[in-house]
Amino acid sequence: MKITRVETIPVSTPLVKPFLMPGTKITHIHSVVVKIYTDEGIVGVADGGDTSTWYRGETQDSIQGIITDTIAPLFLIGQDPFAIEKIVGQMDRFVRENNQAKAAVDFALHDLKGKALGVPVYELLGGRTTEYSRQGWVASAGGTEQTVQAAVDAVANGFELVKLKAGDDIDEVVRNVAAVREAVGDDVRLTMDVNGFWNYDQAYKALRKLEPYHLECVEQPLPYWDIEGLARLRGKIGTPVYADESAQELHHLKEIIDRRAADGLFIKMQKAGGLLKAQRWLTLARLADLPVMSGCMIGSGLEASPSAHLMVADQWASQFTHENLGPLIINSQWENDEQRITEDIATQVPIFKDGKLYPNEGPGFGIDLNEQFINAHLTPGKRATAAALEPVAVVA
Ligand SMILES: [Mg+2]
Repeated sequence: MKITRVETIPVSTPLVKPFLMPGTKITHIHSVVVKIYTDEGIVGVADGGDTSTWYRGETQDSIQGIITDTIAPLFLIGQDPFAIEKIVGQMDRFVRENNQAKAAVDFALHDLKGKALGVPVYELLGGRTTEYSRQGWVASAGGTEQTVQAAVDAVANGFELVKLKAGDDIDEVVRNVAAVREAVGDDVRLTMDVNGFWNYDQAYKALRKLEPYHLECVEQPLPYWDIEGLARLRGKIGTPVYADESAQELHHLKEIIDRRAADGLFIKMQKAGGLLKAQRWLTLARLADLPVMSGCMIGSGLEASPSAHLMVADQWASQFTHENLGPLIINSQWENDEQRITEDIATQVPIFKDGKLYPNEGPGFGIDLNEQFINAHLTPGKRATAAALEPVAVVA
């Protein structure tokens, strides 16, 4: 089998309610749908979003451009789509960074291979360890009242863990956490994500003040480059420190482990550069006896699927609670078992129910593209592009 054509389609999916992060209001997910075609008629698909330029520095345009102009013509067209290790190795050798773009290619190759072999992607990742992955809820940033309400509602809807986003105003952060803890009681697991926006002084003072509310962990309290600072901070506070933005490539993980800079690690398939690289990443976490949480970039049912499959396959990761909630956040829902999501890039959004996520059972990711939705939500002012064995002009 040979790859004959690679398409990238820019799609903008509106959120039913805006999602707030510190300094960011997300109203649309501007993602790229990737389709990899073969000479045997099998097509692998993936969806990758931009959501945060501060997280990986990539955008819809950069993802689309690097795939169409470089990755597809150099490493995909005319190649065997089953040779995922070889293709990922070439992408890493000749394209620096751009892990979200590489991840979208890796996802589409896994989907294609699963379809060709007639098995779900989790079968390609070692087979099933668990039926579902447990999910925590991520509360949109905001005032105390909204944050408390979101946490109370999440617990009522079956989520055992609630993650809060932290702004720059330390007093407000402490007020919010105290109010949430009082509202949900002592048994609910609470974590906080700073996304690297505090400096050491802010982090130290805030985390000392937050100790009475026993956060299960604080995620990335310092900027991504400050691994030494994470180690120093971790030695002085009682709250476990998780590395997210700091923990990208394997050499970052090695440095975090060597410096004892974290109590746990946060992985996104998109940050790690795909499913193949995510498996190596999780091996290092297991070796260092570091718990992991897996999240999403906020995206469609197709975007959520790679993590949904790996989190039921990987024995190490399957023990822990994750937060891969894109379709629920986009549609402002707590589940999609009774209230099915139809406005999505995927025709079959994987099922979220009682704080649990179940991967689809069909071949590959078990998903067909919702072409009607995609055509209705093409990003205004942008166009689909393609690379192929024969020169191709414009797709749509
Ligand atoms: Mg994070």
